[in-house]
Amino acid sequence: MFEKVTVLGAQISNGTIEEIADFLAERVRQKKNTVVYTPNSEIIEQFRKDTSLMELLNSADVLTADGIGVVYGAKILGTPLKGRAAGYDIACKLLEIGNREGFRFFLYGSKEEVCQLAKENLLKQYPGIQIVGTQNGYTKEPVGEKIAQTNPDVLFVCLGAKKQEEWIYHNKHLFSGTVFLGIGGSMDVFAGVVKRAPKIFIKLNLEWLYRLLKQPSRFVRMLALPRFLWQVILEKFKSKR
Ligand code: UDP
Repeated sequence: MFEKVTVLGAQISNGTIEEIADFLAERVRQKKNTVVYTPNSEIIEQFRKDTSLMELLNSADVLTADGIGVVYGAKILGTPLKGRAAGYDIACKLLEIGNREGFRFFLYGSKEEVCQLAKENLLKQYPGIQIVGTQNGYTKEPVGEKIAQTNPDVLFVCLGAKKQEEWIYHNKHLFSGTVFLGIGGSMDVFAGVVKRAPKIFIKLNLEWLYRLLKQPSRFVRMLALPRFLWQVILEKFKSKR
């Protein structure tokens, strides 16, 4: 397991994308249930207002720093992380390994047609994987048993923050030997209906700016980032007194 770095109550695993993906692949081979949540600063801001939600987040085996805000936060607190480890990037690395080793994936979340497009694209790009099922994220019926019956090695849960973490938390006991990744809007990116920021934005740590320019309606949500960093600065100040 990874050394943990605490940022505003969230215990972030200090690993690179490669290290985390390699660890998860090993868990697949060992057939051990493993929960991965991928919070950004906005999610930590939301969850830290509710102790039970923060406990749920920290019950994950691996908590990755999805956004650059978390990486800056850790740096300000004097406990730097190795870097950003976005859920989408970890999923892609795991797909690469799965492509070589024939891992069984299940796709859960988003609209039905988006799931089907994502499945098509992933099978084209990673022909060595199996996709043992898909489930849209808008059904009211409980789907845990049905998904567990397909016995996936890796389950991508893309229901958006809070919903996906709670779903994994309440359903993981139905599975044996599955790696769960709560990875928000990644299904939309696999399907090609949402584009990831160009590499240059990611390299310059400006993916948030690209998303804001593409979707100005995210502005209010994104105010969580400066709020988060402000809280980190207050925390640092408190610990110095
Ligand atoms: N979604 C879903 N069921 C719901 C609500 C949302 O499957 O009841 C999907 C939605 O279609 C989208 C993803 O969850 O694909 C949420 O994406 P977003 O970018 O909002 O994720 P976040 O930023 O919260 O990680």
